[in-house]
Amino acid sequence: MCAANRTGLATPAEAPLLEVKNLKKHFPIRKGLLRRVAGHVYAVDGVSFTLRRGETLGVVGESGCGKSTTGRVVMKLIDPTAGTIRLAGEDITQVPPDRLRQIRRQMQIIFQDPYSSLDPRQSAGSIVAEPMIVHGTARGQELEDRVADLFKRVGLRTDDMRKLPVAFSGGQRQRVGIARALALNPSLIVCDEPVSALDVSIQAQVVNLLMDLQDELGLSYLFIAHDLAVVHHISHRIAVMYLGRMVEFAETEDLFAEPLHPYTRALLSAIPIPDPTARRAERIVLAGDLPSPSKPPKGCHFHTRCPFAFDRCRVEDPPLREIRRGHFAACHLLDGQNVDASNAAVTVAGSALSEGEP
Ligand code: SF4
Repeated sequence: MCAANRTGLATPAEAPLLEVKNLKKHFPIRKGLLRRVAGHVYAVDGVSFTLRRGETLGVVGESGCGKSTTGRVVMKLIDPTAGTIRLAGEDITQVPPDRLRQIRRQMQIIFQDPYSSLDPRQSAGSIVAEPMIVHGTARGQELEDRVADLFKRVGLRTDDMRKLPVAFSGGQRQRVGIARALALNPSLIVCDEPVSALDVSIQAQVVNLLMDLQDELGLSYLFIAHDLAVVHHISHRIAVMYLGRMVEFAETEDLFAEPLHPYTRALLSAIPIPDPTARRAERIVLAGDLPSPSKPPKGCHFHTRCPFAFDRCRVEDPPLREIRRGHFAACHLLDGQNVDASNAAVTVAGSALSEGEP
C-alpha cells in the first residue's frame, strides 16, 4: 500500500506541523592563515515547504543537493543562515537553549548509517533509554517498561535489550535507532536516508515499519532519500531538490504520473522497472556532474545539464510556481511559451500559472 492510500493524514486546511520559509544555509569557505572567508557553499538556498500532521514529505535529489542539510537545519542541529522554521505554530528559528531542549523532544532524527549511529559500547536497551534519562521523562521500572514496549513496537525482542549493537544485523540496528527516536513521543521525525545502507531485502521491512508507526502514532516524517522507488512508497508529497533549491513539489501520485521539471523527469526515467516489456517514459540522460554548490551556475541552476535549456535559462532564474493545484515547478518551459521545446509528453496550462509556496 502506498502512502497516498493511507489514513490519518491531516487535511490541507488544518494548521501544518512544520512550516519552513525561505530557508538558507550557506557554509563559509575559509582560506589562508587568517582564515578569511573566500566564498560560500550554498548548501540550502531558499527552500520553503509545509509538513502536515501525519504526513510524510519525501525530499529527493542527488548527493550534494542540500537535502540532508535541510533536515539538519530543520532539526536545529545547525543554525540557518536565513529563513524561518515554525513547529506547531512556534517560531523555532532563534530560540534560547532551554526552550530548544524542550522542543527537541518533539523532533527526532533517524540517521543513515545504523553501524555508526549507535554507540558500540552501550547495550541496545541503554541506547533507547538514554533520551528518556536525559530529558527526565521516565525512570526506574517505568523506564524499563517503556524501553521494553519500544523494543516490541519496532519488532525486536525484549531479550535484545541487553545486547551490544555489534550483535545486530543492519536492519535490527536501524530498528534500535527507530526505537530511540520514538522514546520521547516526538511528533516529527527527520529520516535521513534511513534505508540507504541496508540490503534491498531489508529496506522494505524498515520502510513498512515506519509506515505502520506513522499510522499508530500519527507521526510526521521528513523522509530524505535518493531512491525514488522508496520515496514513492512512503511519501504523501515529494520535494525534488537540485543545488540547494526546490525545483518541483507535488503530491506523490501527481509527480510520478506527470513530472513537470526536466530534472525530475530525468530522475524518474532512470528508475529501473521490473517488467522490461512495460511502457516507460523516454530515458533522459543528464550530461556532466552536479556543479559545485559553491559556484552554482547563473540563471537556472540546472541549465548546464538540462537537455532543453535555451538562452533565457542561462540568465534568468525560474521561480517555483504553482502550475497545477498543489503541483509546483521551477522551469521557464512551464511559462506556456516554450512548452513545445520539450519532446516529452508534458502538457502545461500556461495561463493557469500562479505564485505560491508549497
Ligand atoms: Fe531546463 Fe531551462 Fe527549465 Fe532550467 S529553466 S529546467 S534549464 S528548460
